[in-house]
Amino acid sequence: MTCHEQVELMQRYLDHDLSDTEERELKEHLVQCAECSGLFDRLQRLDSELSQLPKVTPAYSLVDAIMPQLAELDRCRGRLRKRRPKNRPQPLLHAASLGHAGFSPLGSWLAALP
Ligand SMILES: [Zn+2]
Repeated sequence: MTCHEQVELMQRYLDHDLSDTEERELKEHLVQCAECSGLFDRLQRLDSELSQLPKVTPAYSLVDAIMPQLAELDRCRGRLRKRRPKNRPQPLLHAASLGHAGFSPLGSWLAALP
């Protein structure tokens, strides 16, 4: 196994995702390879430091922020549906649904409609 492949084993070791055989293989390599051994020490230190960071709670709920906009968009859809003849494709509504995720300014524009 190459050093590059050992790095993947190191990451999986830190995730507690190695079989006994893989763990033995990694440790045998670390004894022989100073470069990988140094990297593994740094990864273990980093993993330990990251696990000690305080939990971060967002100041607001993303769901709570999005739900009112979805309700507004649904109201707009209702109005547009009434104006359009039935059985016609509605590309504008499809584009507006992309705006849900913030990928399109069209969603914002539709939400701002009176
Ligand atoms: Zn190595």
